Amino acid sequence: MRAQILERLKPRIAAMSRQPGLAVVLVGHDPASGQYVRNKIKACAELGIYSEKLTPAESSTTEELLTVIESLNRRPEIDAILVQMPLPKHVDSRQVLEAIAPDKDADGFHPMNVGHLVAGRPAPRACTPAGIIEMLKYYRIPMDGRKAVVVGRSDIVGKPMALMLLAENATVTICHSRTANLAEECRAADILVAAIGKPALVTADFIAPGATVIDVGTSRITDRAEAERLGKADDFDKNGAAWVGDVHPVGVRRVAAAYSPVPGGVGPLTIAMLMSNTVSLAEQHAGLA
Ligand code: NAP
Repeated sequence: MRAQILERLKPRIAAMSRQPGLAVVLVGHDPASGQYVRNKIKACAELGIYSEKLTPAESSTTEELLTVIESLNRRPEIDAILVQMPLPKHVDSRQVLEAIAPDKDADGFHPMNVGHLVAGRPAPRACTPAGIIEMLKYYRIPMDGRKAVVVGRSDIVGKPMALMLLAENATVTICHSRTANLAEECRAADILVAAIGKPALVTADFIAPGATVIDVGTSRITDRAEAERLGKADDFDKNGAAWVGDVHPVGVRRVAAAYSPVPGGVGPLTIAMLMSNTVSLAEQHAGLA
């Protein structure tokens, strides 16, 4: 499916008079962020998208990062800008993200683009939830009139996910850490999206028989006994740790009709949607969209 999304972008890139350009700003040396950025740059190379990685020092101030963003905003060959999160604690992340020109906002996090999403107008969409919508369409999971429950209300996953499901005519409930009786809310879902970040919190009793379950949460387990309980002992023994989602990987398979697991599932789609946003922004800059 990721391959299909990327394949659809190739003729659009070929039709342009110059390569689309993506700038990725990676502050500091967080190994996970470094790996995410490498994967994004690799996807650009595969597609013929020009990419540029900027690596300001960990000690960079908010003002220094604003200067970096402003200079990227002015460069015509850069169509899209992504700031890899999280930024160091001393940096005002919101100010940095809001400095990105809305028409170069690769991640769709700028409040103006969030507003466009709310109003149902075209604009760059947050990549993870946009990838989930593509996945549901690809597997022909009906959304129109169905009950969707999103657990998590972050600006980058939960809220845009709920809005995108609403735009597909689902009846949407958003749950969070203060939701009373989370299991009962989840059991009402035809489509359940878990974006929490708490390993295996969603167990089989949260899931209605026949539901579609999309796991977004990504947690690294470093305790072998816990990995074994979650059916991940082999991964643990191979890698010294195991990645797990918010959904209990053993229990869910007994109840759900369709299940997108972690790792796999949503992660690779996020990068495909980033490529898609970059191409759409380049088309817009070239007057093609
Ligand atoms: P976040 O900002 O930490 O938000 C987590 C959400 O979960 C919050 O809304 C929180 O509620 C809710 N929550 C926490 N504990 C809960 C509980 N016990 N019951 C119900 N809700 C609870 O995280 P995020 O950025 O949205 O990311 C969520 C997860 O998805 C993380 O594991 C992240 O690594 C993963 N992720 C994966 C991808 C990918 O695969 N491509 C992309 C993005 C994120 P409150 O608002 O009440 O605090």
